[in-house]
Amino acid sequence: MKVGTKIPARPLDAALAYAALGIKVFRVRRSKAPYANCTRCDKQSSLYIKHRPEECRCGVPTCHGFWAATTDTDLIRHWWTEEPDANIGAPCKLNGWAVLDIDPRNGGSRSLAALEGRVGVLPGTTMQITGGDGLHLLYLSPGFDLPGEPFPGIDFKHNGYILLDPSVHASGARYRWAGDGLFRLPATPWPSALLPRKEKQPLPAPSQAPRHPFPRPTQASRREGGGKLWSVEDLVQHVMDSVAGDKQRGRNNSLYFAACRAHELAEQGLIDLGQAHTALMHAAAAVGLTESEARNSFDSAATRPSDRRRVA
Ligand SMILES: [Zn+2]
Ligand SMILES: [Zn+2]
Repeated sequence: MKVGTKIPARPLDAALAYAALGIKVFRVRRSKAPYANCTRCDKQSSLYIKHRPEECRCGVPTCHGFWAATTDTDLIRHWWTEEPDANIGAPCKLNGWAVLDIDPRNGGSRSLAALEGRVGVLPGTTMQITGGDGLHLLYLSPGFDLPGEPFPGIDFKHNGYILLDPSVHASGARYRWAGDGLFRLPATPWPSALLPRKEKQPLPAPSQAPRHPFPRPTQASRREGGGKLWSVEDLVQHVMDSVAGDKQRGRNNSLYFAACRAHELAEQGLIDLGQAHTALMHAAAAVGLTESEARNSFDSAATRPSDRRRVA
């Protein structure tokens, strides 16, 4: 077994320890409320310049949530000196990870048992006990996009981020590395039994690819009556822009609005609902909504009374 690293208890020291191992980290408020973007990245500002977070060139190192993640020690010192208790976030895909996130409160333990009954015991790897009594299994990214939430209480975290030891959960409990408490860089490939069956499209190699977290729409939505024309990309942008509002309700409302449009457009065969769902869940995670908040918004949009006049 590889030699592990003892992660210091003080968040600044811990963040520096991760960065020294090559892990990109960023600051996450304990409330999870995102930090405001700069004026060029803030849709509400008159100086806003339209762009996607992965293509941002504003130079301000805190814009766009987890896209700010870095190994730059000066910036890390600055962040945690300013806010010593901030949690430590690590984007999964940007660090080459895919994380199996098991939440026992939502049936994750049962799902895991059922899953392992079917595909065999999952390969051993770096494990973290979350402050919510859940479990993170950190694997190497398969290089494919993964479905977000295949089983009750189990998430495949790939486009989103996780918090790292010694971050503090809303419950007040600390995240901590399992076993001997030491951290080891994930070295085990994502279990092949958990690869999606149909979408085995390799992602472009990181060296050639700019940052592209969101599936691009294959087909823009069309409509005959004129007015606003939404594509999946527009809906994602709508959710991403809500981060400037800094209020959870604003983000939830934006997601709900986008989800309503997605269901309506999908009913008319103009967009693919599965693709829109995946893209919007990624966007929701990027603006700091939890999976369950995002799921609730998306699901309530599905059951909302139809309002087709506005899109037909
Ligand atoms: Zn900016
Ligand atoms: Zn920007």
